[in-house]
Amino acid sequence: MRANTWAGRNKVKVRDVPDPKILNERDAIVRITSTAICGSDLHLLDGYVPTMQDGDVMGHEFMGEVIEVGQGVDPGRLRVGDRVVVPFPIACGACGACAAELYSCCENSNPNAGIAEKMFGHPVAGIFGYSHLTGGFAGGQAQYARVPFADVGPLKIESDLTDEQVLFLSDILPTGYMGAEMCDIQSTDVVAVWGAGPVGQFAMDSARALGAAKVIAIDKEPYRLQMAERAGHTA
Ligand SMILES: [Zn+2]
Ligand SMILES: [Zn+2]
Repeated sequence: MRANTWAGRNKVKVRDVPDPKILNERDAIVRITSTAICGSDLHLLDGYVPTMQDGDVMGHEFMGEVIEVGQGVDPGRLRVGDRVVVPFPIACGACGACAAELYSCCENSNPNAGIAEKMFGHPVAGIFGYSHLTGGFAGGQAQYARVPFADVGPLKIESDLTDEQVLFLSDILPTGYMGAEMCDIQSTDVVAVWGAGPVGQFAMDSARALGAAKVIAIDKEPYRLQMAERAGHTA
């Protein structure tokens, strides 16, 4: 298959790489229909996050169609032919962190959790396409991806919403939503969001959905402020 790969500091290259295969019985293979570039991919690109290796497949925001499942995947949760958005953290669904719905802290999905702990001060879950600190999993800026614990994380899309309408559930919509949710918004609140990039836009939309009286966008880029205005916020 073709995939976007890391090729050294500040260099990426689309090249031929081996197709992913089922390695564990709860894996699925997803044929990718849409994928995104994240702001945090820049940290990999420029070497800020260490342990990238030449040829690593990038991308942690992707969705597509399940084309193969391992024998251990619960058919009540996921089957061949399902259309799914794949969240970026890989979660086992069974450990203490997963039981507490802290999926990004899954204790079973990152074989290099000890190295992550040294770097960040705490371990993290496995993450697609995000260096060997988070497990060295191939990412989704590719034609296909292997998804471990496939009956836990992937969100089935059973409506006719387009890829563009649901793709951002993989990372930046929940990231923005979490920011807004942490504010405990009341109906009389005026909420200002510093930074009107993609996550900021979703934080603003989430603040409104959570009942804010008014949402104000703050940014130095006019096109971002215009986008916020088009969404009904105050720039
Ligand atoms: Zn991201
Ligand atoms: Zn877990």
